[in-house]
Amino acid sequence: MKKPIVDQNKCDGCGTCIALCPGSFKWNERAKAAGIFPPVEDNDMLETARLACPTEAIVLEDVKD
Ligand code: SF4
Repeated sequence: MKKPIVDQNKCDGCGTCIALCPGSFKWNERAKAAGIFPPVEDNDMLETARLACPTEAIVLEDVKD
């Protein structure tokens, strides 16, 4: 399983990751994205979101199932 992590210093709040994976990313109180664990979307969709992030703020951490 992957744990989605958002670097708060890099995220610019564009919302792309939340649009692509609404079950794995959410807004936080600072209008930036935050990862949800466990994620709802599969690894392929998480990777799609990671690659789509314009600021490369998303890290997918390996977690033992
Ligand atoms: S796609 Fe990247 S910059 Fe946009 S909200 Fe998600 S983490 Fe932040």
